[in-house]
Amino acid sequence: MNNQAQYNYDFDYDGSVAPFNLCPSVPTLQMMKQLIASPHTNSVGILTGKPLDYIVGVFRGYLEACEYEHKIILSGNNGFKTQTGIAWPPAHEHFLCGAKDELDVERLQAPFLALKRKLLVWAKENGHHIWFQSNNIGITPFSEDETIRLKIKEIAEKELSDADIFLHPDAVDILPKDINKGALLDDLFSGKWGLEKLAPENTLVIGDGSNDIPMMKKAQEWGGYAVAIGRNEQVIEVADVHFLTIESALATFLAFTDVGLHPLHGQIQN
Ligand SMILES: [Mg+2]
Repeated sequence: MNNQAQYNYDFDYDGSVAPFNLCPSVPTLQMMKQLIASPHTNSVGILTGKPLDYIVGVFRGYLEACEYEHKIILSGNNGFKTQTGIAWPPAHEHFLCGAKDELDVERLQAPFLALKRKLLVWAKENGHHIWFQSNNIGITPFSEDETIRLKIKEIAEKELSDADIFLHPDAVDILPKDINKGALLDDLFSGKWGLEKLAPENTLVIGDGSNDIPMMKKAQEWGGYAVAIGRNEQVIEVADVHFLTIESALATFLAFTDVGLHPLHGQIQN
């Protein structure tokens, strides 16, 4: 570790940077801005299960000036659709799973739209209220009722045997296999993005949920670190470091890098 080192941070959004269904706190926003502006930060990625459009809108609100826009990587639907910077339409966007354009996306999406139709009919017949976010790929039905979310998972497993399913405290992500935040990290560091300065071993990933585990394992594979936020035991078990709040994690990263140390200096216990 030296004081010239620069780090890549890849954050999950809901449950990590922002509480579910709420805005990030004012201190979180201030520290995120400091982290992006820091000379010790090479890149800041937001890798969310939400659609890319949603997270672009959020980040346009974060940044009063676009001076550091080149450091930002925004990725939606668990890594499926990604862009650098916050421009809309994006200057550079990219799909996972070999999809090259919107026609490929439609082809991949067809079986998921059929499942969405089945779930809507099932919900209507049973008097359940479920809501679907506007995904680029896969489907994400929301329900406040855990029993309904588990039933949705069961139906999805029966209808699409090769889908990946992530359960959340408010929703269920149902996605084609091989679309996850770990696959996106692999892609980002492959060299084809023109992000030559990205150093895989200087990467920290920060998450709170089961859909963050693929990116955590990928960062660790490269000698980087995984940071758990909150109380999900499955995530804490995989992570190298655990913070109860995002504010404590960000304050730690900033304090150590400001004095030329690794963002997790003295935090790793093994
Ligand atoms: Mg999350």
